[in-house]
Amino acid sequence: MKQPPESKAVIIGGGRAGLMATRVLCNHFVHVIVVERDVYPDGISPRNGTPQSNQVHVLLLKGKQILTDLFPDLERNLLSNGAHKIDLIADAKYHLATGWSLTFDSKMTTLACTRQLLEYAMRKELMTNFSNVEFIENTRVTGLLLDLIEEEEKDNKRRLVRGIKTVHRGSKTETKNMYAELIVDTSGRNSETPKWLEDMGLDRPKETRINSYIGYSTRRFKIPPSIANQHLSDWKAMIIFTKPPTNPRMGIIYPVEGNNRLVGLLGIGKTYPPVKESEFMKYVQDLEVRDMYEAIKGAEHDCTKIIL
Ligand SMILES: Cc1cc2nc3c(=O)[nH]c(=O)nc-3n(C[C@H](O)[C@H](O)[C@H](O)COP(=O)(O)OP(=O)(O)OC[C@H]3O[C@@H](n4cnc5c(N)ncnc54)[C@H](O)[C@@H]3O)c2cc1C
Repeated sequence: MKQPPESKAVIIGGGRAGLMATRVLCNHFVHVIVVERDVYPDGISPRNGTPQSNQVHVLLLKGKQILTDLFPDLERNLLSNGAHKIDLIADAKYHLATGWSLTFDSKMTTLACTRQLLEYAMRKELMTNFSNVEFIENTRVTGLLLDLIEEEEKDNKRRLVRGIKTVHRGSKTETKNMYAELIVDTSGRNSETPKWLEDMGLDRPKETRINSYIGYSTRRFKIPPSIANQHLSDWKAMIIFTKPPTNPRMGIIYPVEGNNRLVGLLGIGKTYPPVKESEFMKYVQDLEVRDMYEAIKGAEHDCTKIIL
């Protein structure tokens, strides 16, 4: 695709979707600028803008294929930082409403790690391999800039979003405008674009919300070798699914870097998993089968990490 000499794309929010959009657009634009509200951590750690990153994040097969096509160094970088390569069928035990599923060598492999490591590795690859990408951190996008364009053929005016308004979080008030040929909003589920469009006199896009009243709670466990030998010799991940309508609870054990396992509990229909340490293991015991409880009951866990 031929690029105009000064073509520029701006991405609002540099989370997972923003980094993927950046990777695609840096083949087509001279400059790609990511405007991110947070300051990115230097290492692999959580940040305020993506609070969900502490929860278990499974990278499904198609997502892994697309990501590793776009980011050719990703697999090597994830593995060198402690991610696990797992066969989604052979290395995982699934307890469905109908019982345990079969395990067999499927060749459908994914990379298991924290969401924080995944984002870190994507960002590093963009920064290392693409000189046309710029990250502007600590800067919040506060609105869109609209132009009215005269249409030549009709006596008509067309509206075109030309840019964004930004505020550096240190200054709070001083607004800076930024112009671009393409603006992509990847600011996540609390995107303000519907409000910004409304503020400019345009229609707010219609939204449909279906709330299953799902809740998550995740803790990090270090499983000692004695327990690992007994319970983890033939699997790396375990998922105990809900059994509707009698059991709305679900649990997952997922391997992440540092030889840790994230244990995520989920509940649907307002059966929210507990955030109190004392109640966490009780919820694990109330899953449809006891295998998860047996696997983690003697494991060390990180007491500070219960997140809902
Ligand atoms: C509990 C839970 C479990 C999940 N489990 C999985 C899973 O197993 N597998 C999976 O694939 N997905 C999972 N997800 C979904 C996944 O987390 C989201 O789909 C994904 O994070 C969305 O990425 P995003 O880049 O669109 O948004 P986000 O990750 O929310 O990123 C948005 C970014 O935009 C920035 N931003 C926001 N507003 C502004 C602004 N005005 N100006 C500048 N920057 C801004 C934020 O700081 C942030 O960096 C889970 C989600 C939750 C809540």
